[in-house]
Amino acid sequence: MAKVGINIATGSLQKEELIVGIDLGTTNSLVAFINSNQEPYALNDMDGFTIVPSIVHFTAAGEVIVGNEAKKHLIEDPQNTVYSVKRLLGKSFSDLKNIQQYFGYKILDQETEGLIKIRIRDKYYTAIEISALILKELKARAEHYLKTPVKRAVITVPAYFNDSQRQATRDAGKLAGLDVLRIVNEPTAASLAYGLGLDKNEHQVLAVYDLGGGTFDISILNLHEGIFEVLSTNGDTFLGGDDFDKAIVNYWIFENKKNLDEVLEDKSLSQWLRLKAEEIKKRLSFEENIVLQENGWQLNLTQSKFNELILPFVDRSIRCCEKALADSGLSLTEINNVVFVGGSTRTPLVKQQVKNFFKGTILFDNLNPDEVVALGAAIEADILAGNRSDILLLDVTPLSLGIETLGGLMDTLIPRNSKIPTKAARQYTTSIDGQSNIKITVFQGERDLVSENRKLATFELKGVPAMPAGLPKVEVGFLLNADGILTVMAKELRSGVSQAIEVKPQYGLTDNEVEKMLMDSLENAQKDVETRMVVEAITEAKQLVYLTERFLEKNSEMLRSDEMEGTRQKIENLASALATNEKDAILHHHEALNEFTAPFAERVMDKAIAIAMKGKKI
Ligand code: AMP
Repeated sequence: MAKVGINIATGSLQKEELIVGIDLGTTNSLVAFINSNQEPYALNDMDGFTIVPSIVHFTAAGEVIVGNEAKKHLIEDPQNTVYSVKRLLGKSFSDLKNIQQYFGYKILDQETEGLIKIRIRDKYYTAIEISALILKELKARAEHYLKTPVKRAVITVPAYFNDSQRQATRDAGKLAGLDVLRIVNEPTAASLAYGLGLDKNEHQVLAVYDLGGGTFDISILNLHEGIFEVLSTNGDTFLGGDDFDKAIVNYWIFENKKNLDEVLEDKSLSQWLRLKAEEIKKRLSFEENIVLQENGWQLNLTQSKFNELILPFVDRSIRCCEKALADSGLSLTEINNVVFVGGSTRTPLVKQQVKNFFKGTILFDNLNPDEVVALGAAIEADILAGNRSDILLLDVTPLSLGIETLGGLMDTLIPRNSKIPTKAARQYTTSIDGQSNIKITVFQGERDLVSENRKLATFELKGVPAMPAGLPKVEVGFLLNADGILTVMAKELRSGVSQAIEVKPQYGLTDNEVEKMLMDSLENAQKDVETRMVVEAITEAKQLVYLTERFLEKNSEMLRSDEMEGTRQKIENLASALATNEKDAILHHHEALNEFTAPFAERVMDKAIAIAMKGKKI
């Protein structure tokens, strides 16, 4: 029996709350839902487009524009127009320094180990915040279309995304006001969309080949009686149509005898070339040769030259297919079908190479490769809503998870391609006598040395009673949930000391940071942020006045009279600014007081330390 809610305030029928499926793509994003005919349906805008380009433009007036409108600003205002932000998700600057010149906007290098930041005018944004803006746009589109609030979603990620990147996606959802019920691998979602129309009793093995704008994924799946079992997955988070565009741009720069660095320096020109390259690339999916001259540039490209330029990239994707096939334990002849996902699979050379590799299989490219992932996400959303008990999704984790053991070695607890959710536990001991704090460092990756893998988290099991080396029994347990997110538990079994943490990846965000970002969120909290900044400035200034007064009292004999006088004057200035509640004035006098006292505060501290250390050996 269906239940119908009634809104008591208005007397109207309450619409059932929908869970949407979202494909948050490098180049394009889409939102889909299951319509009243029980079919997945991608939502379109007023012009009929289902695709929202994953582009965010910030206007000088502080307005945020997302999608097709934002795309128009790529050439004329590249510094303030962010594209391909998915490539930055969960990454540090050191991960990206080699490609930063290809971005039209500025990415920051202050903290090589921290989350990467994007500079737009005088503001800094993380990739998570920018992704959240795209998600908000999709949420608004869905709400407009469905005429009901949308608060819950399933979001897809490349199967090869690591823990940091998955967490970052989840955080972006949170920031956009979405409860992310599940993170689903893109190929798995695609196979769901494809598998819906299949005969339940037919047993099939599918390879999902997904080449998008920035990422490549290959997954091998078993479909049987409504169960979608992922056998193996592989891929490359830095391989896609963007690389084809870049190769074309580099070719044109060479052919036109221009200097690569100079062209890349000119952001408007390089964005223009990048868009031209993409346009020509798409035309080459249907035409043989392009002859074009524009803005003094020869933009010619033949099909065979294009194929030559992109062959190394296509080959890289085929290497991944080989690995996925080997991991699945199957032979080529056991693969029944290949499903194509992602706009770049429209490229003839890609189709041909994949066909050559998967000999004898049927290629499925009848689904719209742009929409298929979002449609699958909508089906998964429908499953989670409890509307489809006939389908079960068994996903796998793409990378091995383990901890560091003596000598910097990786000890894998959960091997890659394990079905999720899953758990594993193993016992360890100490190598030093009397160790009361035991450090546990968690890594993700396939290499034997942890230095080659990605560090996810470090924590210490504290307060273990001192025991000789080899005696403590430390049990480390891993719990990997259905989103591929890890919780680690550690327990010293003799003493019972234990600790559990949800792994916050090195480049991820703490809940506090997410909360802080929510406060900073452009649309909702502009005023709150202003108020909070004033409050913070006042609190900090009051604290500084207090501390400086104590400092003067305690150290008067170590200070010269001009230093004492000057400091008192600056304190007075700050106190008067405080009375006005003017943030900028408070910050200005705060800074002035700090600057004035810094040189002699240091001198006094050095002296105090010298006195304290007298007679003590270190
Ligand atoms: P996706 O991330 O799946 O939206 O794929 C976007 C990528 O597909 C971009 O690199 C596009 O340039 C590329 N693409 C879209 N249409 C075509 C086409 N007709 N031929 C070749 N590449 C295309």
